[in-house]
Amino acid sequence: SSAVTSSTKIVLNLESLGSLPADEAGPLARYASTIQAQRHDYNGKVLSIRAEDLKSLAIIYDMSPDELTSRLIEWGVLNPGMESVVGFGGP
Ligand code: C2E
Ligand code: C2E
Ligand code: C2E
Repeated sequence: SSAVTSSTKIVLNLESLGSLPADEAGPLARYASTIQAQRHDYNGKVLSIRAEDLKSLAIIYDMSPDELTSRLIEWGVLNPGMESVVGFGGP
């Protein structure tokens, strides 16, 4: 299995997300807006998402969850501390 072993919440920085080019960040931005709509949570600067959602997003981006995590940190959408605290099990 590829269980996400993190006990730290995945918190997206929506301001950074909004300033990224749509061709790269588009799928993530749509995913985040869908969650905001489902929760009726529109006013936040950040959005806490499920660990499971990062796995779904990795499939969308055709990356491993670790690769996507690194990309999100490069984009400034995830806090750099996430790299060491988000652990993923083997295949
Ligand atoms: P926290 O989870 O560490 O979140 C800290 C602050 O980040 C929150 O302060 C809020 O301003 C922002 N934040 C985090 N995730 C989201 C999100 O998905 N949407 C939005 N709009 N903002 C977010 P806040 O609201 O004063 O909450 C303080 C603490 O209270 C939170 O710390 C959390 O421990 C708890 N809390 C608040 N709402 C909920 C909730 O719906 N469920 C749970 N389980 N805890 C909550
Ligand atoms: P649902 O999964 O049936 O969850 C129903 C309600 O249970 C949620 O209503 C929320 O109040 C609570 N809930 C479920 N899981 C959690 C959790 O891990 N943390 C917290 N703090 N609360 C939780 P809400 O927020 O109005 O969401 C309605 C529906 O929108 C959810 O129904 C789900 O289908 C979807 N949704 C909302 N946020 C997310 C998300 O971050 N990821 C995914 N995959 N779906 C989400
Ligand atoms: P949180 O609310 O502090 O929840 C932390 C973890 O407790 C969640 O991690 C999940 O493993 C578990 N949990 C909390 N509430 C529920 C629940 O109603 N049903 C189930 N099956 N598990 C629950 P997870 O899934 O990685 O979510 C991380 C954070 O994302 C949550 O922290 C919350 O801030 C946010 N979140 C996730 N799903 C929802 C949702 O449906 N609605 C809202 N409003 N927030 C959500």
